[in-house]
Amino acid sequence: MYKISVDKELFKDIQFKKVQILEKMTSKYWKKELLEPKIENDRIKYSIKQIDKLIITNGLGEDKPQLTIECEKIDYSFKKDIFEFHLGKIQEQRNTDISEDYKDTLIEELLREKAELEDSINRDHLTGVYNRRKMENDLGMFINQNNSSQLCAIFIDVDRFKGVNDNFGHDTGDRVLIYLGEKLKDHARLLNGEVYRYGGEEFIILSFISKGEIISKLNNLRLDIKSQRIYHSKRDISVTVSMGVSFYKECSSKEEMIKRADDGLYIAKNNGRDRIEFA
Ligand code: GH3
Ligand code: MG
Ligand code: MG
Repeated sequence: MYKISVDKELFKDIQFKKVQILEKMTSKYWKKELLEPKIENDRIKYSIKQIDKLIITNGLGEDKPQLTIECEKIDYSFKKDIFEFHLGKIQEQRNTDISEDYKDTLIEELLREKAELEDSINRDHLTGVYNRRKMENDLGMFINQNNSSQLCAIFIDVDRFKGVNDNFGHDTGDRVLIYLGEKLKDHARLLNGEVYRYGGEEFIILSFISKGEIISKLNNLRLDIKSQRIYHSKRDISVTVSMGVSFYKECSSKEEMIKRADDGLYIAKNNGRDRIEFA
C-alpha cells in the first residue's frame, strides 16, 4: 500500500475532512509508480494506475499519526504536474488523538449539518420557501397554541399560469415562481405568518392576524405582485394572483380551514381572478 507523509496541518485537515483532494507534486518515483505508458497508434499514452487505499502519515515511524483512507480516484494534471488523490472514507486511525477543542468543533459541525438537513427536508427546492410537509407539521402545532383563535389560512394561486409556461417557456414559469416566493416571504412577515409552497403554482400563508387587519395587507400583497415586471426577451411579464382566506375559529378542524381557503380561491377565480375572497 502507498504511504504519503504530510505536514501536521494537512494531516489534521485530512483527518477532519476539510481536504478531500490531496495534491502531490510528482517525482520520478510517483510517476513510475502511477503512470503506465502504452503505445497506441504509434503514440505514447499514459493511463493512471488506480488504487483503493492510501496510508497518510505525519512523519515516518510506527509511533506517528497514521490514517488508512479510501482512495476514490487518482488524477494526473499535466498542467500543474501533480497527482490528485481523491480521498474517501477513513478506514483506520492510529496514534491520532482528538483534542477536546476538536471534539467541540466536530460536534458543532455535526449539529449544523443536522439542522441544515432538517431545513432542506422542509423546503421547496425551487423557491426556497417551506413545503407542504412543513405546512402540515406547523399547522398541527399552530392549532394547539393559545393564539389559535387568530390563525388563518390564505390560499394563493397564480392566475393563468399555464399561459406563462406556454407563451414564455417553463424556465420563465420557474422564474415567476421564484419571484412569487420572494414576494410572499416579504409579505408573510408583515402578516405575522409563514409561507409554504403547497404544490405547483399554489402557495399557502398561515398567519396570526385579525380579520380587521388582514384585508388591507392582502390587498397590498396582491398589488405588489402585479406591479413588478419579470424580464423576458420577448416582452416583460407581470402576473396576478387570486386568494382565498379562511379563519380557524370559524372552522371545526384544520382540514376544514384549508378546504375553506381553497373554496374562497375557487370563488375568486370564478369572480374574475386577481382578487381576494373569504369563505
Ligand atoms: P387559473 O387562473 O385557473 O389558476 O389557471 P392556471 O393556468 O394558473 O391553472 P392550471 O391549473 O391550468 O395550470 C397550472 C400550471 O402550473 C400547469 C403546470 O404546468 C404549471 N406548473 C406547476 N408546477 C410548476 C413548476 O414548478 N414550474 C413551472 N414552470 N410550471 C409549473
Ligand atoms: Mg392551481
Ligand atoms: Mg393557477
